[in-house]
Amino acid sequence: MKLSKLAIEIVESPTLALNEEARLLRERGEAVINLGIGEPKNKTPIAAILASAAKLTSGEVKYTPPDGTQSLKKAVIRYTEENYDRLVAPENVIITNGAKQSLFNIFFSILNPQDEVIVVAPYWVSYPAIIKMCMGRPVIVTPEDGTFTPRFEDIEKAVTSFTRAIIINTPNNPSGVIYPSALVEKLVELCEKKGIFLVCDDIYHKLTFDRNVSVPAYRFTKRDVEDSHIIVVNGVAKLYGMTGFRVGWVVAPRDLVRVMTNVTAQTTSGVSPVSQAAAEGALNGLQSVVEALRLQIQNNRDVVLQEFRTFNGARLIEPQGTFYALPDLRAFNSNSVEVSKFLLKKAMVVTVPGKEFGMEGHIRISFSGSVKDVTEGIARIKWALDPTSPNEIYIGDKKMIRDWM
Ligand code: PMP
Repeated sequence: MKLSKLAIEIVESPTLALNEEARLLRERGEAVINLGIGEPKNKTPIAAILASAAKLTSGEVKYTPPDGTQSLKKAVIRYTEENYDRLVAPENVIITNGAKQSLFNIFFSILNPQDEVIVVAPYWVSYPAIIKMCMGRPVIVTPEDGTFTPRFEDIEKAVTSFTRAIIINTPNNPSGVIYPSALVEKLVELCEKKGIFLVCDDIYHKLTFDRNVSVPAYRFTKRDVEDSHIIVVNGVAKLYGMTGFRVGWVVAPRDLVRVMTNVTAQTTSGVSPVSQAAAEGALNGLQSVVEALRLQIQNNRDVVLQEFRTFNGARLIEPQGTFYALPDLRAFNSNSVEVSKFLLKKAMVVTVPGKEFGMEGHIRISFSGSVKDVTEGIARIKWALDPTSPNEIYIGDKKMIRDWM
C-alpha cells in the first residue's frame, strides 16, 4: 500500500503500546496502576455541566464560527485580562479543539517547508511530531547539566536564519519544572530581536506548587499583543480537568488568528457548541474548583517527594508544577523503554519512557490520579528497582518475585 511518507513518519508512541499491554493485564484481573496518563480524576465543574446541559436541551446545536463563539471568546478575553494583564480583542483569540489543535494550527500557519522550531528537551511528545506534520524541522536543545532548565546561550546558539519559532512549556510536561523568569525574559528579547515567535504552551500555568509561579511572557514586553511575537496557548483540559471537552484557545496577533481561522474553517470547523458552552461555564463559574484541584495535586506531589527521599539510586528534580515527575533511573538502567516495560511486568505499574520526551534514562510518572494509586504505584516501583528491598511481595493476592532487568 502506498501511503504518505510524511504520515508514515509519525510513529506510534510506545505509550500506546504500554497502555494496550496494561489494558490486557487489567482485563485478566491484574491490579495494574496507571501512572502513565496525565488526567486529573476530578468531576467536571458543576458550572460547566449546567452550561453545556442548557445548550444541549435548547436543541440548538449547530455549526459555530470557526474561531469560536462570541461568548466563549469574551470569557477568554476576561481570563487573559485577569491572568496576563493584557487587554485583547476578539480578533486576537481563536478557540480550538483542545490545545493540541491550537499547536497544530499555529505551526501549520507559521511554517514553510524546512523552517525550524526550537524545542527544549524534555519536551511534550507531540511538539516534534506536530512540527514535522507541518513540514517544519524541530531543533532540539537539551540542557547538558542534568537539569531540566535550558541555558539561554544554548537556545540562542540554536537560532539560524530558518528559525521561525521557539516553543516553551512552563510549568513543563514531563519534568514539572518552571523556567526562571530571567530565562523567559531573555527569550522574549531574543524573539523580538530576531523577529521570531515565542510559542508559550501555558496549559499548566495555574498548576504550580508552594510559592512557585510561572510568570507569563507578556510581562517582559512593552509591546501590545498585536505587535508582540508572543503566542499563548491555553485550554480547559488541565485547568479544570476537562480533558474530554476538547477546548483550547490561542491568543496571538490578529493576522495569525485570521490565517488559523481559515485553516480551521477548511479542516474541522468550529468546536462543538456544547463543549464551548461547557468551557464558558467553567471560565465564568466559581474558580475555587481550580484551587481545589491544585491542592489535591500538590498533596500528591508531596507524596511523590516523600517516596523518592528513600529511593536509593533514583534522582528526582522536584516538580514545581504540573502533575508529572521525571526521575533519573540511569543508576538502574539507562534504557527507559526497558525500564518502563520491566515496571509494567514486575510491578504492574504503567509509566512513560523518558526517551519519548527526549530524556533517555528517565521515566515519567504522572501523579494526577488518586493519592492511593500514586503511593502504591511508587512503592511498587521502588520495590522492583531497589536492590535492598525484599525479594517478594503480594500485589492483590498475586505473589511477585523480584528479579533483575
Ligand atoms: N500541551 C501540553 C504540554 C500537554 O501536556 C497537553 C496534554 N497532555 C496538551 C498541550 C494538549 O491539551 P489538550 O488536551 O487541550 O489538547
